[in-house]
Amino acid sequence: MMVPFANEAFTDFKEARSNAEYETALRLVEAGLGREYPLVIGGERIMTDRRIRSVNPADFAQLVGSVSQADPALAEKAIQTAYETFAAWQRVEPRERARYLYKAAALLRRRRHEFSAWLTYEAGKTRAEADADTAEAIDFMEFYGREMERLAQPQPLVRIAGEDNELSYLPLGVGIIIPPWNFPLAIMAGMTAAAIVAGNTVVLKPASATPVIAAQFVELLEEAGLPDGVVAYLPGSGGEVGDYLVDHRLTRFVSFTGSREIGLRINERAARTATGQRWIKRVIAEMGGKDAIVVDEGGDPALAAEAIVASAFGYAGQKCSACSRAIVHESVYEDVLERVVARAGRLITGNPADAATDVGPVIDEKAHRSIRAYIAIGRKEGRLVLGGGTGEPRGYYIEPTIFADVGPGARIAREEIFGPVLAFTKAASFEEALRLANDTDYGLTGSVYTRNRAHVEQARRDFHVGNLYVNRKCTGALVGVHPFGGFQMSGTDSKAGGRDYLLLLTQAKVVSEKM
Ligand code: GLU
Repeated sequence: MMVPFANEAFTDFKEARSNAEYETALRLVEAGLGREYPLVIGGERIMTDRRIRSVNPADFAQLVGSVSQADPALAEKAIQTAYETFAAWQRVEPRERARYLYKAAALLRRRRHEFSAWLTYEAGKTRAEADADTAEAIDFMEFYGREMERLAQPQPLVRIAGEDNELSYLPLGVGIIIPPWNFPLAIMAGMTAAAIVAGNTVVLKPASATPVIAAQFVELLEEAGLPDGVVAYLPGSGGEVGDYLVDHRLTRFVSFTGSREIGLRINERAARTATGQRWIKRVIAEMGGKDAIVVDEGGDPALAAEAIVASAFGYAGQKCSACSRAIVHESVYEDVLERVVARAGRLITGNPADAATDVGPVIDEKAHRSIRAYIAIGRKEGRLVLGGGTGEPRGYYIEPTIFADVGPGARIAREEIFGPVLAFTKAASFEEALRLANDTDYGLTGSVYTRNRAHVEQARRDFHVGNLYVNRKCTGALVGVHPFGGFQMSGTDSKAGGRDYLLLLTQAKVVSEKM
């Protein structure tokens, strides 16, 4: 029996010892940079000629690793192998399936800083951000393992005389896992772990910006003894391999986290029935956000400013939960703006491998270009009060950037930027602030700073987001504590790290036997 689930504690990087350990891990990982990684299908390692090169976004001359790139023929082989493996894996006892996750979590815990250091090199995460990512990956495995054990128990049904009734949760089949690069360990591991512990086999197509950390994770699953074929590791381009996997007649479900554009594309393609397909494909999608922090008249300006800065600029704003809009009551607008600008102005942008760095680079050249374009748009739509520039040219740096007096119709107030860019908007009343906050296609996270009890209740009722925080920042959901996922164009309303999540990856069978 396992102890009840508890979240993994974060490392305290105020301690010199933690920093020293992290630096050892950075050196260890640095020595392993530049390796070549094969695809893995059914335990077989396959090197291809075509490669995806993963570079350090803080120093793009540095190669983190190069991974083999699949083509449609290899995608076909991966799906066929997953389909064949499913026949046996679906019959493995749920508790045994859970034990692979517990073992992998234990192994990851032992190598925690090493995995985080990979995140620093490959995803540009600062120590604290990388550490939280690794902790969340451990949490997902521990949590979903226990969830599967719970679902494998006899399920509550209304009992009637003369019949033996039983409900059990069966797996679906072959799943395609398409994770994002922004939580390239936590979300990738969580999506994969949930699917396999529920008895499915999967083809994991890692994000092209962060395929190395996924390769390390797949090695970890092997080390934990996971049978061959349960997880295929298949890097490839979205247009060539992603579409092929999504369209395939043997694909039973697609689990996706990433942009709205790709999520909608997957949803449309998955809705078409392929020749010979025997089911309706299920799509679980977690997409973007345009998240707002509302500060009310009488809301604590200092605490609000701290939360806005943390939510807007943590991991350079590259979270779908990030605060990209501060909607502030006119009575405290100037005060909050000033505090946010002062605080954000003290953030150190630089190489995430350095202990002092608060804000690292953005992920790649494409992101850098797109964020710069939004900053150019912002200069026309608002008043630039902080940042706007780039940084050290060897990396994809963007300074924390703030625009004041942004109108609600502005593009920077409506479109997801996915970078360190924050728009301040003034509201004449709390009602107006909530209305502006809800005036978006998305509905992922939101936060309200107020001391007015009636306004707390109003926000609880009317602020239409999947994850609402009151007097707290809008990032940093914890597994099991804050099941995470949003409304509208933020996705399919799923809740990662919640009790409903495995139901998305299973189907319930009821057997009624007359006695
Ligand atoms: N779960 C993360 C948070 O609460 C965000 C995940 C994401 O950006 O996809 O901050």
